[in-house]
This record gives sequence, C-alpha cells and structure tokens, in this order.
Amino acid sequence: MGRNKKRSSKKNNSANLMENGNSKETKSNNTTGKLELEIMKNTNQQLSISILDITSRLNLPLKPTGIDLSVDSDDDETLEFHIRPRFVYMCNLCLICMNICNCGVQCDNCQMVSYCSEQHREENKIQHQVLCRALSNICDGMKGFSLAKSLPPDLYRTFRIKTIGAIEKMLGRQLDLWEREIILYPRICRNCKKIDKELILCQDCEVDFFCQDHHQDHSKWCKDFQVFRKILFMQHKHGYVDPDVPVVFYNEPHVLPENFDFLMYSMFANSPSYRRIDCYTYASLSYVSTAPLTTLFAIQKTIYDWKSREELKIHIIGAEFQFECASLRVWEKLFLHFLPKLRKLSLEFTGPELYLPCAPPELLSKIKMCRKCKLLKRKIDVKFNSQMLYHKIMDENNPDLICLYNPGLYRETGFDGTDTWPCTIKKFCNAKVPVVVTSYTEFEIPRDIERIKSICSVEVLLEPQRNPFAAVKPDRNFVSDDVAPLMYKNYCISIVKGL
Ligand SMILES: [Zn+2]
Ligand SMILES: [Zn+2]
Ligand SMILES: [Zn+2]
Ligand SMILES: [Zn+2]
Ligand SMILES: [Zn+2]
Repeated sequence: MGRNKKRSSKKNNSANLMENGNSKETKSNNTTGKLELEIMKNTNQQLSISILDITSRLNLPLKPTGIDLSVDSDDDETLEFHIRPRFVYMCNLCLICMNICNCGVQCDNCQMVSYCSEQHREENKIQHQVLCRALSNICDGMKGFSLAKSLPPDLYRTFRIKTIGAIEKMLGRQLDLWEREIILYPRICRNCKKIDKELILCQDCEVDFFCQDHHQDHSKWCKDFQVFRKILFMQHKHGYVDPDVPVVFYNEPHVLPENFDFLMYSMFANSPSYRRIDCYTYASLSYVSTAPLTTLFAIQKTIYDWKSREELKIHIIGAEFQFECASLRVWEKLFLHFLPKLRKLSLEFTGPELYLPCAPPELLSKIKMCRKCKLLKRKIDVKFNSQMLYHKIMDENNPDLICLYNPGLYRETGFDGTDTWPCTIKKFCNAKVPVVVTSYTEFEIPRDIERIKSICSVEVLLEPQRNPFAAVKPDRNFVSDDVAPLMYKNYCISIVKGL
C-alpha cells in the first residue's frame, strides 16, 4: 500500500511489511495514474440503473492505481504501509509469470504445476525440483488425488492437510503458503473429484476446471473466478493498490443506502471517473471499506440514538493487522463523515493474531484527519491489544458495540490448539451491548450464532443474512470448499446481544 502524495511537503514514514509464508516477491508499483474527479456534495439524486457493480467492471481496462482524491491536510507525520502481496498459486496460472497456461505445459513429473511456456518451465526447473520430488514421493503427484473420489468433503480436506504435513516432515521445513496451495487447490473437478483427461477448462475464466457433468456448478462461480484471476494478476504485477476512498462530508447524519454499490454510486456522484474504476480497484475499495461500513450499518440497525451520539466506543475482537488496521484512515472518510455530531470515536483492536509492525506505537495509532475534522476538534482514538485474548483484558467500561469480523466462532480448533472462544463469548455477552458477527460464507454464520447460543442466552437483533457492505474481493475457501470455492470478507452478518 501507500502511494505518497505530495511527497515533498510531507514527512512520511515507511514500514515495509511482507505477508507471511512468502518466498516469492513481487514489486510494487508506485506510479500514480491520476484521474480527475469532482466530488460534489451528495444531493441524493435519483439513483438510476447506471450503477456499476464488480462484475460489470470486469471488462474495463485495469489500472494499477486508485483514483486520487486526497484531501489536503496539514503536514502531519503519518505512517504508510507497503504491504507486498504474497505469491498465490492457481492451477492454471504460470508459476513464473501468473499468465494463463493455455498450451498445456506442465511439470511432467508431479503434474501439479503449470507454465505458460516451455521457457518458463525450464526457468523453474531447478527451483521446483525438491518440492516436486516430495510431491511425487508422498502422494504420487496428481495421481495420488485419484483416491479423493471416494472421500467425503471432510476426509478430502483431512487428506490434503495430512499430505502437507507429510511433505513438510520430509523436507524438514514448513511449506510457504503458495506451496500449500498446490496441494489445497489442485486441478480437479470440485464436485466428483475427477482428474486428468476427464477435465474441461472453463473458456471464460480460464482458471477453473470441471468435468462434463458439472459445468452448471462452475457457472455459478465463473464471474467470481474472473474477478479473482484479474486481482491475482494485478497484485503480482503492481502490488496492492491503495484505492482512494471518495470523500463526502454529510451535514446531516447519513443513513446508508441499500448496499456498497449504491453507496459508491452516490458518493462518486456518478462522475465520469466512477465509470472507469476497474474491477481490481473496485474490489480493493470494498476490501478497505468493509470494516467501517459494516460497523456503521450495525450501529444504524441497533443503536436507536446513533444520529445524536457525540461519542462512540467500539471493540474489534480477533483483529488482524493487515485486514482491520492497515487502512485505518478509511474510518474518518466512511464513518466520521457520515455522523456529523460525532466528536470522538474510540476503536480498540484485540486479538491473539494481531501482530503490530515495528513502528512507534503512537505513529501506528495516529490517523490522518482532514482539515475540516481537525477544525472541529474531532478525534479517532485507536488502541491495540496486540497478541492478547479479549477475555483477558480488563477494561473499565463497556463499549457501545462489539465487532467480530469473520471469526469462525463455530470452529473448535481455536488458536494455538486451544479453543478460547467460550471465554471470549461469555465476556462479550456479559457486556450486554450489540455484538456484530460476520462470516466468509453463508455456511458459517448460522453455526457461529448457534455457538454463541450454546454458551450464553442472547437476543438476536439481526438474523443471519447477506451483508450489504461485504467485500467484493474474493479469496479461496478451504474450510467449506465443498459448498463455496471462493469467499468474501464480511459476506454474511448477524447481530446479537447478551441477555
Ligand atoms: Zn509464464
Ligand atoms: Zn513437479
Ligand atoms: Zn465432476
Ligand atoms: Zn469460468
Ligand atoms: Zn474529516
């Protein structure tokens, strides 16, 4: 992330972060392709059919950077994060350049990796050798997956996890995440587990395979795969984009429209540049916006006097730095600006997997504010409880809202082998305030809520449903891959309150 605007006039500190488990590096591209955009005050004009969602942006030319809408602020010292995306393996993308492999060049030995050309196969030969040998020894490469046909979904998942474990043991090291993906997401029909010659490559997305009986199932996901492939390619070439979030100051408390697409349409005021945001940038925009917007959505649903609140205190449990904390500035643009009466917003992030980058804490929690907010002396207080469990934190008073984004409460595998959710669930129910829970898929959310109910008695304030402010940037799904091959941050939502 992190394009520097007006570098000359501002001091910027850089923190280089790398996603874990990566040995392949991509260069990030910091050129700025500026588009002019006039943002007008929202006039609540009639929303017409010209709203563009993620899939209708698939054919727009891809641009490596967002739209420059920087709001001038004073010469503050702030921190920018340059998070480089890790390499992602996909069975029909070249291991060297991530282009589509349409000439059938594979590793002859394991048959689990593909290349766009003979030249790239040659280039990767030495590097691939050790892993290739392990794949062949442990599961006979792709041939070993023929036994997947007889396995129910849970056992097929166990088979892949055990295969990874055996390979790691043999190699005497942990596999990188992209290496694990070779085993987690092989070239197979997801429905019946046919492999090899019985497979057909989808001609539209060119990254997913199915057998002749299961074309229908793929069709449901084809557009998602098309978006996913474009995102992977752009990340590989240009790094993450830091999309500029539209800025609108609402003078009256602003009720969120029916979903993210409507909101973007109204905030961009249907300007010409709105029609040029490519699917990668739009996906990134939704990704950085989903936490503040989902929180705002929940507040508007559950806190009756939200319009007049001058202070709000929010706890975010199970936070991860790269998802919830790397773009904190968005909270000013997509939260504070919607609630003109709000003077102070407190955000407290807690989680055992919340690892802070090396930087002075006061810089990490400092959010760049626009002039208008500064003039009004508005504040966003940020606190991190890094590598801590929520129920072990002692705090004086309860927050107004508690958020758990994609926690997977229903899973009992827990953190570090211990299931700590029951204690955390008891604590957040005891606060007797609205608790927002989201999930990656439709499969998970009812199970998450059931888990809470099995431990505490709660009132359901919002039944499990699709979240209108979910991210539209896909990720691959492993834990319920028999139900959905791809998943989205904050896809479903429910709100409960301890009784
Ligand atoms: Zn290639
Ligand atoms: Zn191989
Ligand atoms: Zn099939
Ligand atoms: Zn397709
Ligand atoms: Zn502001």
